[in-house]
Amino acid sequence: MARDPRYDVLFEPVQIGPVTARNRFYQVPHCNGMGRAYPTPMAVMRGIKAEGGWAVVCTEQCDIHFSGATTREIRLWDAQDIPTLARMTEQVHKHGGLAGIELTHMGYYGSNLESREIPFAPSGKPIHYNNPIHARTADKTDIRNYRRWHRKAALNARKASMDIICVYAGHDLTLPMHLLARRHNHRTDEYGGSLENRARLLREVIEETKEAVGDTCGVVVRFAVDELLGEGGVTMGAEGHDVLALLGELPDLWDVNCAAWENDSITARFADEGFQEPYISFVKKLTTKPVVAVGRYTSPDRMVSLIRKGIVDMIGAARPSIADPFLPNKIEEGRLEDIRECIGCNICVGTSNLTAPMRCTQNPTTGEEWRRGWHPERIAPKDTEDTVLVVGAGPAGLEAARALGQRGYRVTLAEATAELGGRVSREARLPGLATWNHVRDYRVGQIAKMPNVEVFRDSRLTADQVRDMGCSLVAIATGASWLASGIGRWHGFPIPGSDGANVHTPDDIMAGRIPEGPVVVFDDDQYYMGSIMAEVLAKAGRAVTYVTPVSTVAAWTVLTLEQGRIQKRLIELGVDIVPSHALTRIASDGVELTCAFTGRTTQRACRSVVMVTGMAPNDGLYHELARAKAKLAAAGIRRVVRIGDCYGPGTIAAAVWQGHRFARDLGAPMPDKAPFKRENVKLAAL
Ligand code: ADP
Ligand code: SF4
Repeated sequence: MARDPRYDVLFEPVQIGPVTARNRFYQVPHCNGMGRAYPTPMAVMRGIKAEGGWAVVCTEQCDIHFSGATTREIRLWDAQDIPTLARMTEQVHKHGGLAGIELTHMGYYGSNLESREIPFAPSGKPIHYNNPIHARTADKTDIRNYRRWHRKAALNARKASMDIICVYAGHDLTLPMHLLARRHNHRTDEYGGSLENRARLLREVIEETKEAVGDTCGVVVRFAVDELLGEGGVTMGAEGHDVLALLGELPDLWDVNCAAWENDSITARFADEGFQEPYISFVKKLTTKPVVAVGRYTSPDRMVSLIRKGIVDMIGAARPSIADPFLPNKIEEGRLEDIRECIGCNICVGTSNLTAPMRCTQNPTTGEEWRRGWHPERIAPKDTEDTVLVVGAGPAGLEAARALGQRGYRVTLAEATAELGGRVSREARLPGLATWNHVRDYRVGQIAKMPNVEVFRDSRLTADQVRDMGCSLVAIATGASWLASGIGRWHGFPIPGSDGANVHTPDDIMAGRIPEGPVVVFDDDQYYMGSIMAEVLAKAGRAVTYVTPVSTVAAWTVLTLEQGRIQKRLIELGVDIVPSHALTRIASDGVELTCAFTGRTTQRACRSVVMVTGMAPNDGLYHELARAKAKLAAAGIRRVVRIGDCYGPGTIAAAVWQGHRFARDLGAPMPDKAPFKRENVKLAAL
């Protein structure tokens, strides 16, 4: 199919100093949990984005010196690190992209856990992380050194064949940005005080980078125009505006956004596509250089309108490029219905914050490109004569059926209810989660184009029916149910009284059964569901007490950058938050809570309880089938496996991944040897 001429503008080249981007798609730097621990998986992941049409593909932050470093990201301390980065540029160049690198020295953010150097920052104070470390005040030598290191890193980056060097003044993460922020910079020398002074280092490093490599590399500034902190923070009305007015013409491109990271990569629960536009739209008025900005853009019409309105010149993306590395190519080829839209869940962020190779809810192949050889668009054609029955059309079943269908297998997908999507369809009806429907819609759309995949709704299969289907492989993807017993992280046994009629689970609430108030929500799951239950119930007019054994609401969501917004929302809804307590007894008129530290108990009056604790796989059908081995053989079924939540309840991302893996390995038993490639550290000479 040909590209719709409306989108032609997206495929115009853009000049970035001495280099030319082939189109307007710019993958901004983003963490991925691989960094220097898994350099080849990272490089191949980046290369696949170039293959998918991204004109510019950047690294994550790259530490330029051990005195301002993280423990996990890539680094370019000296020439020793060039080969790692060269592997990335080679992959990007192979597919016609420009490779960019984000040079970083972390100021207040660098714990320097590896080098043990005391971090330095504009003015001495405790570092951002909770480590018991004070940053010292940078002296003039430090500042001169930083400039020298930055210049050297730019030269080494060029040796690694980087096309774009990014001076990083964003996310409240780096020295030039810390100098700009009044709350961080109490200096009285030429780097403190006036805006011109606070922007001095930024000016110097831009100029020095241009002088060092600007003849062959584009020099980009990544700059946070607003920290959403008001007075004391960088704001678009003050530093945001003034830096652009002062330095607007110096770099070859401006990559602008909001800081800190939690204000940049906001989840869809709290912000829509394009939420940063009000903050960044002034930038182009102050520079003639191209501007790039992010906003979880997946709609080509929206992208075109941004360019036509003169808000940006290039479409920046981290998350949409993870969910669909082939987004640009799909627009170019007129295949909009094939786009896998990012749902804004931040599982990618959460897993990279865990320093695990990044996962993506929508794209199960991310991080697996090299180590398992999984390509996001291509998959090996079928190599057996199997026919496959997939039972259950949640995210696991849908992905299994889609990918098996793509391989050319004859697939039957049976779903008990009239609606496809399983938990995704249920959860997408909860406040703020509507985008999650994309997980279902992408797959249902793809399956609809496959004559070899047949979908049956309203088909709750029994074991006999499964055996009668005549398929040789069966994947049971029947999901999981929330437990009412309270068994979970805190409790190993049912909570006394949990069998009462006043005890409910998220499954009840999602089915529209809203209990009587006052309600106690016991959140021992600690991800999103407990907080959403509290939100739903509060919005339904119930008095809600939210109880959790840990010290914050939805504790795991610190990793997905949502925790602050979730807790704020519950506070604003009037939810009574009781942290550090477990629910330990339930009666018809109230509950007993136990302090997680002292064991002291208190009583709370309530009419109902919503238990957000553990889950139980819906694996009855699987066990019934697996038990009757002779019947399986007689029915010609060579293998029955569980996938998704029916195997191990968890995230939607995990269910999609398991569905995908099943399509690749047909449920082969777990091997002794890891079924993925590993990259060994090269041992140094003793
Ligand atoms: P997962 O996240 O693992 O994909 P879900 O809970 O989202 O799991 O989806 C499971 C799906 O399986 C639901 O849509 C449910 O209606 C369906 N299902 C459960 N039991 C059966 C069955 N016996 N036959 C067909 N479909 C079933
Ligand atoms: Fe988007 Fe979620 Fe995938 Fe991240 S994990 S890219 S937020 S769909």
